[in-house]
Amino acid sequence: MAFVNENYLKLPGSYLFSEIARRVNQFKKENPDADIIRLGIGDVTRPLPPAVVEAMKKAVEEMGSQETFRGYGPEQGYEFLIEKIIDNDFKPRGIELSVDEVFVSDGAKSDTANFQEIFGLDNILAVSDPVYPVYVDSNVMAGRTGMVNARGQFEKIIYLPCTEENGMKPPLPGVRADMIYLCFPNNPTGMTISREELKKWVDYARENRSVILFDAAYEAYIREEGVPHSIFEIEGAREVAVEFRSFSKTAGFTGARCAYTIVPKEVKAYDSSGSAHSLNPLWLRRQTTKFNGVSYPVQAAAAAVFSAEGKKQVRETIDYYMENAGIIRNGLEEAGYRVFGGINAPYIWLKTPGSMKSWDFFDKLMREVNVIGAPGAGFGAHGEGYFRLTAFATRANTEKAIERIRTGL
Ligand code: PLP
Repeated sequence: MAFVNENYLKLPGSYLFSEIARRVNQFKKENPDADIIRLGIGDVTRPLPPAVVEAMKKAVEEMGSQETFRGYGPEQGYEFLIEKIIDNDFKPRGIELSVDEVFVSDGAKSDTANFQEIFGLDNILAVSDPVYPVYVDSNVMAGRTGMVNARGQFEKIIYLPCTEENGMKPPLPGVRADMIYLCFPNNPTGMTISREELKKWVDYARENRSVILFDAAYEAYIREEGVPHSIFEIEGAREVAVEFRSFSKTAGFTGARCAYTIVPKEVKAYDSSGSAHSLNPLWLRRQTTKFNGVSYPVQAAAAAVFSAEGKKQVRETIDYYMENAGIIRNGLEEAGYRVFGGINAPYIWLKTPGSMKSWDFFDKLMREVNVIGAPGAGFGAHGEGYFRLTAFATRANTEKAIERIRTGL
């Protein structure tokens, strides 16, 4: 008899975006002519930049020729890409990294979900509430949590409420947390953290010998001066932090798949006798066992993001989405909504009118103006009463959606 991993049975039935899709499909069946605009799921709409496409094509040609064919590459990524990542994303911010501290992967989703594997099951984790659901669900699957309660919160997870009162910034945990997931710019709230605030987290982690799992998937959207782009800008972070980055939202790689994770050699976790172990060789061991690298054409394409044309084209794409964010933010504010995010992130987090439940607001928006968003409750108990819109639609659809919300609700 085969036994199931019972930790999977602790997870609530449907992932947020499957439930959204179910409701939209049902609505479409009943209203086949409805002109639905999707500002819900966080996928991009702009194509890959031309410099990236050229590099990918060239790499595919190389793969088709005897002299330049490549088989398995290094599991942790080709050096030609890693060096560009270090030189462009970190050196200019005064961050020194060595080549073996960067691990190229097929996505920040897989990395943020898989990284917990190298930690013991007795660690207590802390997450923001609302939260990108992958951090929680991957730890539930691993067996690091207890059961879920009626509010959707799991035993043995410390939830750090992000509220209007604390400016949507997770408060430091009052008790010891061993693994701390932070995401800035934040999905779903679109909010950022200052250097001073991030320093408090690094200090907390150093005092408690915790590890911060810092998700910077939206770093490229930061517009304001003074907002840290990397946790390694903070003194001492190399001892206590790992950082996840992605080409998905930066350069349109949601379908092409490429990301990377920084694991400094100083970051450590401890065994039961109290001896310290560097996480870097453990992650290398994990990746070389379970992952065979990102395809050569995709890594060649990712390297082109850092060429002069690539940088310019990526900037144009991000500017386009951030103009959408401005249209959403301003339009909603003019219509009297209380709005967060959308300044350094492609997400806009709005308070539902009259404290309406977020799924009720979802249905209202879908039925009355045919606009799809993401209900805040899907991101955690403290997301209830809020709603997320994304800036990733086309300009025309973004403008149309906001006009409908302004005039039709
Ligand atoms: N981290 C956050 C906070 C995200 O919002 C997303 C995607 O929506 C990811 C990671 C996943 O990115 P990737 O496409 O690289 O897997």
